[in-house]
Amino acid sequence: MIRTGRHFLQIPGPTNVPDRILRAMDSPTIDHRGPEFAKLGRDVLEGIRTIFKTRGSVVMFPASGTGACEAALVNTLSPGDRVLIFETGWFSHIAWRQPAERLGLVVEYVPGTWRRGASPDEVAARLGSDTQHTIKAVVVVHNETSTGVTSRIADIRRAMNRARHPALLMVDTVSSLASIDYRHDEWEVDVTATGSQKGLMVPPGLSFNAVSEKALAASKTAKLPRAYWDWEAMLKNNQSGFFPYTPATNLLYGLREALNMLQEEGLENVFRRHARHGEATRAAVRAWGLELVCEEPLEYSNSLTAIFTSEGHNADRLRDIILEHFDMSLGTGLGKLAGKAFRIGHLGAFNDLMLAGTLAGVEMGLRLAGVPYREGGVMAALNTLTAERQGEPVYQ
Ligand code: PLP
Repeated sequence: MIRTGRHFLQIPGPTNVPDRILRAMDSPTIDHRGPEFAKLGRDVLEGIRTIFKTRGSVVMFPASGTGACEAALVNTLSPGDRVLIFETGWFSHIAWRQPAERLGLVVEYVPGTWRRGASPDEVAARLGSDTQHTIKAVVVVHNETSTGVTSRIADIRRAMNRARHPALLMVDTVSSLASIDYRHDEWEVDVTATGSQKGLMVPPGLSFNAVSEKALAASKTAKLPRAYWDWEAMLKNNQSGFFPYTPATNLLYGLREALNMLQEEGLENVFRRHARHGEATRAAVRAWGLELVCEEPLEYSNSLTAIFTSEGHNADRLRDIILEHFDMSLGTGLGKLAGKAFRIGHLGAFNDLMLAGTLAGVEMGLRLAGVPYREGGVMAALNTLTAERQGEPVYQ
């Protein structure tokens, strides 16, 4: 089929890579042990810290986000350590529980409904009853990409502190960093794991750990085997801007440009933009009469929205029809949401008209697929977007 114009990539990551970043990557690969690289390395290692809101170290691996999750575990824990992982959806399982079990950790997987975030009360209860402090880490996915639910990390940290429990706090920000407010230092997170391909607007292939002093200290005695993911060699080389092995040089050019773009817009404005788009998308869903997967308004995700199709209407068929007719990719339902829900990504390099086009594609698709809905979702979103621009804030 002949396609004209631009494809709409509205999955919740990888996200659309802005032309500025594509152009920045379109440069010769340089000697990764030479002086020009050292400057690039130092620039991005320094710049990325502001995005995590940390004064501490951030390490980068040439890997996808899952690599950063594995790195968080192997650098800080020992075989047989107990780890509390909150079931928030597909990614709490595939990126954390499964690797942790394969690595020989003892996982306490706190059951969840996939419609709410990790419960701070549950954190308090589980840690409160662990009087011997056998739980070594608490793992939470900040923004569960399979459900569009954002967990409240500040509240979880407060619950940990109230319980006076020394477990490390590990947070997955793969689909929230640089799109939803996140504060590594202020929330006393020990390891934040993320990837390049979502809020950071860079193609897939870079992953990151922001590391607290406490996590660094834990890494000195942690006994899980590690080689490629070892922070020590990484941090030693990073001091002079280098890496212990071949870095993803061209992705780092892209990252440098992404950091410039985020700085120009201002991180708080980036969060506000995502909040507007999240709110407008939810206004459309409400107007359509469809149901959000997230059932707790305090935990609505601003980077993506997961939506149930009505009973008897396969969400993947809807997605196929939208791809075929309108050249737009939407996120599939993952795990137990397969066929039942679809996801709209509204993160990264994105603006009001891209959102309007995205929602128009969904509304037309609903009609073509015969999914029962009420008309007016796009209009509701437009009203939300323009009301805000006329100085009537519709979000906090
Ligand atoms: N965690 C979350 C919340 C994710 O959304 C993803 C991927 O989408 C991952 C982990 C795994 O990252 P990757 O697919 O880059 O390995």
